[in-house]
Amino acid sequence: MTPPDLRAFLPTPRKSWADVSDADWNDWNWQLRNRPTTLRQIEARLQLSPTERLGITEAAVRKLAVAMPPYFFNLIDGADPACPIRRQVVPRQEEMDYAAHEMADPCGEDKDMVAPGLVHRYPDRVLFLVTDRCAAYCRYCTRSRIVSGVGEQELEVDFEEALAYLRGHPEVRDVLLSGGDPLLFSDAKLEALLRRLREIPHIEIVRLGSRVPIFLPQRITPALCAMLRQFHPLWINVHVNHPRELTAEVRDALGRLADAGIPMGNQSVLLKGVNDDAETLRILFQKLIRARVRPYYLYQCDLIQGTSHLRVPVARGIELMRELRGHTTGFAVPQYVVDGPGGGGKIPLNPDYVIARDGERLLLRNYEGELYEYIDKAEPSDRNGKPKPAPLHRHEELPVG
Ligand SMILES: *Cc1c(COP(=O)(O)O)cnc(C)c1O
Ligand code: SF4
Repeated sequence: MTPPDLRAFLPTPRKSWADVSDADWNDWNWQLRNRPTTLRQIEARLQLSPTERLGITEAAVRKLAVAMPPYFFNLIDGADPACPIRRQVVPRQEEMDYAAHEMADPCGEDKDMVAPGLVHRYPDRVLFLVTDRCAAYCRYCTRSRIVSGVGEQELEVDFEEALAYLRGHPEVRDVLLSGGDPLLFSDAKLEALLRRLREIPHIEIVRLGSRVPIFLPQRITPALCAMLRQFHPLWINVHVNHPRELTAEVRDALGRLADAGIPMGNQSVLLKGVNDDAETLRILFQKLIRARVRPYYLYQCDLIQGTSHLRVPVARGIELMRELRGHTTGFAVPQYVVDGPGGGGKIPLNPDYVIARDGERLLLRNYEGELYEYIDKAEPSDRNGKPKPAPLHRHEELPVG
């Protein structure tokens, strides 16, 4: 049975920060300044296991820093060594075990960089890495090599060169700001960047990828929302992996963004011991749509070095999708994807619902496993004078030559 509180948007307890004033607690800069980042600071508030202590003294020093705003730190259940919040943000020694098939840059972003910080892989859209800082660091981060400032590489960003590239490439109609986390910029800095992007006429939409509404909901101030709404159409994708991250504070922060007219999506990563069961995912996705966020992608964990302990087999991921599709609101079900290693882009992974094909007869399986036959007699479209290629099974019937 699921504990009933997973569905509830609960306020986060203050715990050992109980004596902090409301003004400080609700100030996002106070939250950032007071992040525990060292073994001593973390251990003072959380009993660590031997592997976590080594993770903090080794992985967090050489690979990816550890940091959590007090607000998010308090979501960790100190009594539960398997706490799903803890697994996402507290380093472990296993992070230093690199499997042969794991990589530093699993998505091949560096090779598609057209200007420092700007990744142009798809025909009509770009990924713009604008900063290497986040409010907290996810232990499976695909950009561990460049975020947090302790990894093997430094992120170089050249705003002038990137903007010049965008001005010179009219095919780019969609710019995705990510990093690191663009919502860690001050309002003024982010506004200046958005204004310069909006001056480029062929950029139709701007998107922000951010986990700040989840790690640091205090950042989502009315002033930020008023600033952002000047730049519509502006979309935001957040990153939530477990229903407990959707607290009362997060629901209210997401509500302010939704009220500013910003359509929101969510990207989750399928993680062992965090969200690799159908019930947790269903509650997560249903809670997201209650917070007006549409589940967008569920990522297979990238082959980032030192993440074997968090990875779930693809077959299990597909099975989980089968347990969701049809069993809940259609738009609560995200697309399961894997980022093609080396730079293939997102590749959908789906359960197979077409069981067999025999001439015009398609044998389909529904969400309950029942079989249905569909007669596929329609002719291919010849709109625009360009007939679409006929389905494979009709080829023999087409006139030859
Ligand atoms: C994910 C990604 C995008 C955006 O992809 P969508 O499927 O449109 O969300 C764009 N560029 C790069 C390099 C990406 O990794
Ligand atoms: S918020 Fe995003 S960029 Fe930052 S550490 Fe987490 S996954 Fe990486």
